[in-house]
Amino acid sequence: MPVNATLPYDDQNIFARILRGELPCSKVYEDDWALAFHDINPQAPVHILVIPKAPFVSWDDFSARGSDAQIAGFIRAVGTVAREQGLVEPGYRLLANTGPDSLQEVPHFHVHICAGKVLGRMIVSPD
Ligand code: AMP
Repeated sequence: MPVNATLPYDDQNIFARILRGELPCSKVYEDDWALAFHDINPQAPVHILVIPKAPFVSWDDFSARGSDAQIAGFIRAVGTVAREQGLVEPGYRLLANTGPDSLQEVPHFHVHICAGKVLGRMIVSPD
């Protein structure tokens, strides 16, 4: 069910539970600001999710309420993951679904890092 990005944070969402260690993940990186793990249903040969450790619903929520330190720490973590995974030279795509039209499913802000092949053009419409 797509997320309404204006809803309050639900601390029972699946990524909150991963952050608390209640559910497993295939971790690729962690620091004070972010956790990165493999997407359970990869859409590309490399498909990693990076999530902030603090509770934000969406990109909209994070960009509005995140502190400068949280935002800087998270952005740096995304870049670090991509570098450590060797994605810079071949290239990669960042994606952050936000709200119903994007079909965001998990109401904890996350950035998708997709890579590992030529990814094609930006948007594939369901129409
Ligand atoms: P979004 O549609 O942007 O909210 O993306 C949510 C992503 O989370 C999807 O690509 C799912 O495959 C992924 N996902 C859901 N549950 C898990 C999980 N337990 N571990 C890793 N990825 C997950």
